[in-house]
Order: sequence, then structure tokens, then C-alpha cells
Amino acid sequence: MPTKKDYYEIIGVQKDADEKEIKKAYRKLAMQHHPDRNKAPEAEEKFKEISEAYGVLSDPEKRKQYDRFGHAGIDARYSQDDIFGSINFEDIFRGFGGGGAGGGGSIFETFFGGGGVRRGPERGSDLRYDLRISLEDAATGIEKKADVMHTGTCDVCKGTGAKPGTTSKTCTYCHGTGQISQARRTPFGQFITSSPCPHCSGTGKIIESPCSSCNGRGRVRRPKTLSIRIPAGIGSGDRIPHRGEGDAGVRGGPPGDLYIFVHIDPHPVFKRDGNNILYELPIRFTQAALGDEVLVPTLHGDVRMKIPAGTQSGSTLRLRGKGMPKLHGLGKGDQLVKVGVVVPTHLSARERELLTELQGIEDKNPSKGGKKNKGIFEKVKDAFV
Ligand SMILES: [Zn+2]
Ligand SMILES: [Zn+2]
Repeated sequence: MPTKKDYYEIIGVQKDADEKEIKKAYRKLAMQHHPDRNKAPEAEEKFKEISEAYGVLSDPEKRKQYDRFGHAGIDARYSQDDIFGSINFEDIFRGFGGGGAGGGGSIFETFFGGGGVRRGPERGSDLRYDLRISLEDAATGIEKKADVMHTGTCDVCKGTGAKPGTTSKTCTYCHGTGQISQARRTPFGQFITSSPCPHCSGTGKIIESPCSSCNGRGRVRRPKTLSIRIPAGIGSGDRIPHRGEGDAGVRGGPPGDLYIFVHIDPHPVFKRDGNNILYELPIRFTQAALGDEVLVPTLHGDVRMKIPAGTQSGSTLRLRGKGMPKLHGLGKGDQLVKVGVVVPTHLSARERELLTELQGIEDKNPSKGGKKNKGIFEKVKDAFV
């Protein structure tokens, strides 16, 4: 599929153009390429292209989406109907055209309105597939198989809808145009309304012997197995596009895209904060006071960590480079280990004896506040906060 042109370029305005400028530029282009005035064969396509661009840029919500995510952001969220439907053609073409006051309306019905368009090739729908992975998988990257239901081109008839060996013939009712047009005169001018031909459903062709595999639809729903590569460092909610893996196109149109939405399951012990991993480590107060070396689990295996003597409860120690890999980048984040001192609730006789002795020493030591000086504990507490 050729890459789509930038909407701002199509309309010929700067990225920061305001609504008025965009409307003015579009109106000028639309007059120029309007198929009623411009009989060049590519005028219709050009007109649709500028109208699509205007449909997006004239709608603040769609424009924001486009500025952030480009065409992919629009294609994934809006259908062509959404885009063209939001254009107020009457407003744009007020007072324009040979059809009189209502001319604008009728002309555009032919192109965009309610299926009145002769049905040419259509791009297949985009698909969404939700994939759950573990935090470990997100840290290392992984290849996953996904069974995706999609609508594919029928292998038997190669998408024509006709039984192999037979062909479709031109619809005699609409002479292959796929639409029925009716002209109506009103005081405001001539209105032309078009609707899809009921005999051929707007395709312009009649299939006499439909393909039995797809019942003449040319497409079938079936699962396909895709291999999905999840890069290390992916975040929950990230999307991985697979171009051309969506539903097959209709009448020779290009296929849609498939978007893999990644969800990372909550982890029982680790929390993720961007590229860092948060981990809470309970330690005994003797370890906090005297220091120790302990084994700490990380996403990359257990590592030895030094608890310095005098570590306060609630303080955070850093294990450099033990966090999440940076997506599409080099290096890793850190693991932040928050230590919490656990006060024992059940003491053995011996432990009680030792702690009582320690308490006695602290009570006699003026630098620890002594027994009388209760205020010091408030000060110590303040230091923690
Ligand atoms: Zn078929
Ligand atoms: Zn027909």
C-alpha cells in the first residue's frame, strides 16, 4: 500500500493553521476538483482525498488524534463514513454550483451519501487483538502465537464470488453502474438522488453461479495463526501494528491492518514505574541497625544487595540496571528496593532477655534520650517523615 500523504500537505496549510484557514483552503480546492466542474478522470479521487483530509482537520477531536498518531490513529478509530459524515457540505458550498441552492447537497450525496456511491474497491477492516503477557515476558521480549479470526479472500473463487469456471455478467438493470439515479426538479434547482442498485447490491455485476464455498461473497471468516514478536520493554496498553493482516479488502481493495494491544498482568511482587521496578523488602531491625547482605529477587534473577548499617525503615535502595529494558533503546531502568523494618510480635524467652537488656542500656544512655526524655522519640519520628 502506498504511504498516505500528510493531510496538511493535501490541504496546503501549515500545521498550526486555524479552522478558518483550513476551511478556506479546502473550499478553494474543492471548487477546483469538484467532479461537476472538473471532468478530468482523476478529479473524483482528488476530491475525495481533499475531503478526507478536511474531514479530519476540521474536527478538533480527529485533528488531535491525527497530530498525535498520524494516519494510523485515524484509521484505527474512524471509518470513512465518520470522516465524510462530519463535513458540513451545505455550509462549504453555500451558493455554489449549477444545481441551485440545494446543489451542494445533491452532488455530495452521489459521492458520500448513504451508499449511493458506486461500489468500487474497499479497504478491509482493521482488527484488534488483545494479548496478555507477564511482566517477565515484557522484560525479556517474547514471541507469541495468536489465533486471529479474520475475513480473508475466498481461496476457491479467488474473491470473485463466482463459481470457478463461471463469470459474472454486467447487471442489465443499472448497466453496470451499480446505482440508480433519479432527477427531481424543485424550485431550488435539480436534485439528483442516487441509491445502490437493488438487483446487484451496487456492484454492477450479477453472479449467476455463486461460489459454494463463500456463498458468492468472495470472502470467508476463518482463523489464522500469527507469530507476534513482543519487544523487550513493551508497556501495558502499547499497540503493535501488523500491516495488511486485518480483514481482506472488498472487490480488490487492500486489506486492513491488525493491531495487537498488549496487556501486562499485575505481578505478585514487582510494581512497574516506567523503566523502573519497585520492590518492597521487609527486614529485621537488627539487619537495619547492624547492616547485612541479602538476596533480592529481580526480573533478571536473584542479586546480592548490601543493607548499610543504620538503614532507616522506609528508605529506598537502588539496584542499578536491574529494571525494565528501555523499549527500542539501550540499557535498563533500575530496581528500587524500599526496605521496611518489621517489628517482631512474638519473642522467644532468649530474645526477650536480650532486648530487655538492650532497653536497659538505652535507658541509661543520655545520647539515646534516656528513660525520662520522651520528647526525643518525637524528634526521631520527625526525621523519618
Ligand atoms: Zn468463493
Ligand atoms: Zn445493478
